[in-house]
Amino acid sequence: MAGTARRPLLAANWKMNPLSAADAVALSRGVLPAATRHAERVDVALFPPFCWLPAVAAELEGRPVGLGAQDCFWERSGAFTGEVSAAMLAGWCGWVIAGHSERRTHFGETDEQVARKAAAALAAGLGVIVCVGEREDQLEAGETERVVGAQLAAALRVVEPAGAGRLVVAYEPVWAIGTGRNAEPSQAGATMALVRRGLDAALGAEAAAQVRVLYGGSVSAANVASYVGLEVCDGCLVGGASLRAEEFSTMIGTIGAVPR
Ligand code: PEP
Repeated sequence: MAGTARRPLLAANWKMNPLSAADAVALSRGVLPAATRHAERVDVALFPPFCWLPAVAAELEGRPVGLGAQDCFWERSGAFTGEVSAAMLAGWCGWVIAGHSERRTHFGETDEQVARKAAAALAAGLGVIVCVGEREDQLEAGETERVVGAQLAAALRVVEPAGAGRLVVAYEPVWAIGTGRNAEPSQAGATMALVRRGLDAALGAEAAAQVRVLYGGSVSAANVASYVGLEVCDGCLVGGASLRAEEFSTMIGTIGAVPR
């Protein structure tokens, strides 16, 4: 992150938590003081489940904290029971996540479907965090570069250079998500550098320079500094630890203190 013009981003993926609107509001309220204190230096965005978006949006009204959804569908409207379109989300929030590994694993989302979701999000005026990352068997087989390269290439086929400022790519090795086995910063940094080279090649240096590249996978207050201190890392996507307001607030402060 050192030396780049990109603002760091700390994104909170709450997954299918918490269980009530009241708890979602309380969690967002808990991170507001730190997010407000460091708003000059750190972008913070919260990603609650769809059903808590209105309540959290009301809590964040006028505050320097972004709000996003964890997924979207690529069609605008129609007979797609259970789906929520990017166009609908645009009325409630400014961000969406596309291609989280839990969606790829549990719901069979393909690279092409993730790309369609990213395209729909950008077309609706949303910012989009596209997640890429290899599984453990792919890591062991030395396939990280191939897998991440293919996931990234599919997503970038739908991104115009003009939309680059609203694109974020999160490198999230699947084996590191929710396991407590965070990737070695040097290993994560090497893959994030690969992502950055892919962005440069697909979008051109000027547009690519606007895209933020995050690390995600068992990030905690104890290890966040080792990622955001890397030149190639523009912030983190945090799952489990983002459900603890105090720990997440500590992370905001840590990122705010990194020299740029
Ligand atoms: C995530 O859900 O994107 C994530 C990185 O989870 P965790 O921080 O719990 O590994």
